[in-house]
Amino acid sequence: MFESLGDRLGGVFDRLRGRGALTEADVRGAMREVRIALLEADVALPVARDFVDKITEAAVGQQVLRSVTPGQQVVKIVNDALVEMLGGDSAELEIGVTPPAVVMLVGLQGSGKTTTTAKLARLLRKQGKKVMMASLDVNRPAAQEQLTVLGTQAEVATLPIVEGQQPVEIARRALQSAKLQGYDVVMLDTAGRLHVDQALMAEMQAVADIARPNEILLVVDSLTGQDAVNVARNFSDQVPLTGVILTRMDGDARGGAALSMRAVTGKPIKFAGVGEKLDAIEPFHPKRVAGRILGMGDVVSLVEKAAEAIQADDAEKMAARLAKGQFDMNDLRNQLAQMRRMGGIGALAGMIPGMKKAQAAMASSNVDERVLLRMDAMIGSMTPKERAKPELLNAKRKIRVAKGSGTTVQDVNKLLKMHQEMSTAMKRIKKMGGIKGLAAMLG
Ligand code: GDP
Repeated sequence: MFESLGDRLGGVFDRLRGRGALTEADVRGAMREVRIALLEADVALPVARDFVDKITEAAVGQQVLRSVTPGQQVVKIVNDALVEMLGGDSAELEIGVTPPAVVMLVGLQGSGKTTTTAKLARLLRKQGKKVMMASLDVNRPAAQEQLTVLGTQAEVATLPIVEGQQPVEIARRALQSAKLQGYDVVMLDTAGRLHVDQALMAEMQAVADIARPNEILLVVDSLTGQDAVNVARNFSDQVPLTGVILTRMDGDARGGAALSMRAVTGKPIKFAGVGEKLDAIEPFHPKRVAGRILGMGDVVSLVEKAAEAIQADDAEKMAARLAKGQFDMNDLRNQLAQMRRMGGIGALAGMIPGMKKAQAAMASSNVDERVLLRMDAMIGSMTPKERAKPELLNAKRKIRVAKGSGTTVQDVNKLLKMHQEMSTAMKRIKKMGGIKGLAAMLG
């Protein structure tokens, strides 16, 4: 799966990797190619656009870490964005604590629903659960028999078939016998249709009302690409889905459905079907899938390590300075850069306790990305001496700094006030604990 996207992205990175330093034009050029690669992989247009915007922003604004090349750093940025696009953390099956848990599978005819029911049941049995399956498909001839046959292969019990029963009655019976016989999980395979229609939705709703499923999983065929995403959107508008299972990922070289599914439906992909056999199912791990697409796990972990090393390094240096009660404009600038990297005030709050007041001041002055950049520009317009000793900034110097950074003297005063408050907080920290306490706090 994802072969073609992986190849295309690999080509983009190869061209970047040769460079010592990346210009904004390099990054933008590369991102255009990434966008085309995504569209060729059949990713929904708005999802592709959003993805490229995010990585461009991250790549252009980011400082290059020591010991890695800018190209490597872009690989890491794309990797992280891919993980996010695929849903972030893996989503486990939620089967609760009071048995029997009910897992209901829904989807169109031919999506692989019945096979997937048996695959999942087998997986749960392997995990030591006592599982029963029941087919509620009374439309398709022999659908119930098909599940019974699969049950035998998967060594999972199936609810005995009673001719003429309707889906709601079958579900009720399944629940009852599961309770009586001490089953941990009941899997309900519902009827599929050729299209999403009202009768189907009403039937699913009625079953869900009496079965109160822990999971309602939509099974979709990844080979149908954007159609799969549209089907998922339709279903998720009408049924409280808890997740998606993509089948036929084994034949899907493009991966568009997998890549857009989360962004379009907001539902996690929980499993991927990767073949016809009953063991051909895998939990869907966004990190691993992103790794497989890029095939550059070594680069990603290299950049992660470099970032960790630098953070530890910076934190140590900072701790040493703070322990002496030092906090000049350079320190403030580093803090601001860190906040931008980490995405806001929250990150700083986590790093330096005891600065609540300064943070509150910043939060209330509505410090967003633009404000942070403006502060950075003001500090950039100061001379090295002024940065080390902000008290040098008299009225005349303030006017110069304001002009140099395209801000006002008022802005400069605000920045100085903020620095003052943070500096006072630092001195307080020094009194409280000295370097050991502080190092511990900085983690
Ligand atoms: P249903 O109508 O949704 O219940 O679909 P079925 O479970 O009967 O599956 C239809 C066909 O798709 C069967 O031949 C399955 O073997 C096949 N199938 C299901 N999942 C996968 C998968 O992940 N990969 C492949 N290659 N085939 C699958």
